[in-house]
Amino acid sequence: MHEDCMKHVEHISEFLDGELDEATSEEIRAHLEDCPECRACVESLKKTVDVMKRCPREAVPRDVKVRLRAALRDCVARGASPRP
Ligand SMILES: [Zn+2]
Repeated sequence: MHEDCMKHVEHISEFLDGELDEATSEEIRAHLEDCPECRACVESLKKTVDVMKRCPREAVPRDVKVRLRAALRDCVARGASPRP
C-alpha cells in the first residue's frame, strides 16, 4: 500500500500544478480517495501552493517542486513507519 503512495508522490507536485495528463491525474485522484494519509499530506501542500500562487511578487523558489516532493515523501514515510 505504501509502495503505491511512493509511486504517486512522484507526481503529486505536477498534479497540484495541473501539469499531468488526464489519465495520471485520475490515478492520483483515485489513490487519494482511498488513502487518507496521502490526502492529508496533499491538503496541506495544496494550501502552501495556493499561498505561493496568490503572491506573484514573492519569488517562488525554483526548487519548490523538489521540496514539495521531499515533504510528501517524508509525510508518507512517517505514515508508513510510525515512531516506536
Ligand atoms: Zn497513499
